[in-house]
Amino acid sequence: MTSIAVRNPRTGELDYQIDDMDAAHIGAFVSAAREAQHAWAQGGLAHRTKALLAWADELEKNGAEVVAALSVDTARHRISAEELGAVIHFIHGFCEHAPTVLATPFRKLEAHPDVVFKVTYAAYPVVGVISPWNFPLVLSFIDAIPALVAGAAVIIKPSEVTPRFIEPLRRTIEAVPALANIITLVTGGAQTGAAIVAQSDAVVFTGSVPTGQKIATAAAQAFIPAFLELGGKDAAVVLAGADVVRAATSILRSALYNSGQVCYAIERVYAHDSLHDALVEELRTQAAALKRSNAAGDGGHYGPMIFERQAAIIDAQLDDAVSKGASIVLGGKSERINGAVWIDPTVVTNVDHTMTLMTEETFGPIVPVMRFNDDAEAERLMNDSMFGLSGAVFGPDTHTAGDFATKMEAGGVSINDTELPRVMMFDGEKTAFKKSGMGGSRYGATSIMRYVRKRALLANEGAVASLEKLAESEI
Ligand code: NAD
Repeated sequence: MTSIAVRNPRTGELDYQIDDMDAAHIGAFVSAAREAQHAWAQGGLAHRTKALLAWADELEKNGAEVVAALSVDTARHRISAEELGAVIHFIHGFCEHAPTVLATPFRKLEAHPDVVFKVTYAAYPVVGVISPWNFPLVLSFIDAIPALVAGAAVIIKPSEVTPRFIEPLRRTIEAVPALANIITLVTGGAQTGAAIVAQSDAVVFTGSVPTGQKIATAAAQAFIPAFLELGGKDAAVVLAGADVVRAATSILRSALYNSGQVCYAIERVYAHDSLHDALVEELRTQAAALKRSNAAGDGGHYGPMIFERQAAIIDAQLDDAVSKGASIVLGGKSERINGAVWIDPTVVTNVDHTMTLMTEETFGPIVPVMRFNDDAEAERLMNDSMFGLSGAVFGPDTHTAGDFATKMEAGGVSINDTELPRVMMFDGEKTAFKKSGMGGSRYGATSIMRYVRKRALLANEGAVASLEKLAESEI
């Protein structure tokens, strides 16, 4: 088996390696998962919930090694601890909501009172999960947990860029015997991911649009459903009369969280002419006060870039923007220090849609601000994108901003704040618009239903129709 060398984002060294599993390896895991899944599904929801909650306890008690490895993978500590907490939260939340979501009451059919009817659910036996490097743990489980609750076994392939947490995480899964071959973590890159798509019964993918398109094509060939959670280019529109300080703080929090390596980060800002200059100044002042984290991944507000190649993409977007007339007000291109690649918070003005900085995903801590003169112009600009993940609107009040928000072609719009969909995990639903994804909402407890097929059971408690029906139904 070939292996993949893994770069340490804090030192730049290739100090870890993983197996690049091929189709034969994945085939063996899928067979074992398919066999184990039968008992997992037949055991019922109570059995599955008990095993998953036992795993959540194990993560609670023995998750420190997972967090330590994830901190090396991502060069950040606090967010790694948050990722573990989020997975524990997903387990508790989906287990709590599942009895309601998966309830299958009998009922009479109104049009045929003799017929009793019920829908039962049959999980896809093996769900493949392929995840990216920006939140390696959370994005490996945000969809896997509802699939498991539904009764599927999962084969999960985290990104080859951030795989150190896999080994300690496997140990926590092994501590719960009921999860053997039900949660399988595999390692590898594109060929491993492709093998998962080819051999699973459904696939859920979080990553870039180009890879998502390849996966959709492969899933169509394999004739399986693909749930795609892809990239974004979230816009924030700051309407006349908005609170500039509030908007600046909220935009920066979204744009700079995890050094901007977030699918729903604000990546472009449209500011009304009346407040554009004040907003830029506020963004500059607040962003200039933020600090780099220390070598332990603690302290400060942001860490080095996780994926070296992303920094090169960001640099190229900044070069392109500056060559077309953009001005860098704060920050700038990447800087290499002791092997780590840093990009400081960067505010850019005089931007327009001829620049890749305003049209392609940046995935870094860059805040480009463009001026607009009226709401119609703002509407045209915010929707002039192939992406439609989410966005934000700031205005003088909820009503004005909310009215404008209904025009945004995106699956989640925050009003007078950013990133609000994050707080609705089990309560609300949202779907990605345009090329930001496909396949129903991962938000809301009902996302469990993505992983089941519906089997209608119908019992006739009256007389069967006579053969005269054959004659009656003749045309
Ligand atoms: P990527 O598309 O390069 O890779 C994602 C995963 O796909 C990796 O595990 C990779 O090994 C695998 N892969 C690559 N080629 C494959 C193939 N042909 N078949 C199967 N699997 C394959 O994305 P990335 O660079 O790891 O992550 C960044 C991207 O993820 C950004 O576009 C970001 O917006 C997106 N993202 C989206 C969300 C969301 O919820 N919508 C969340 C986080 C990240």
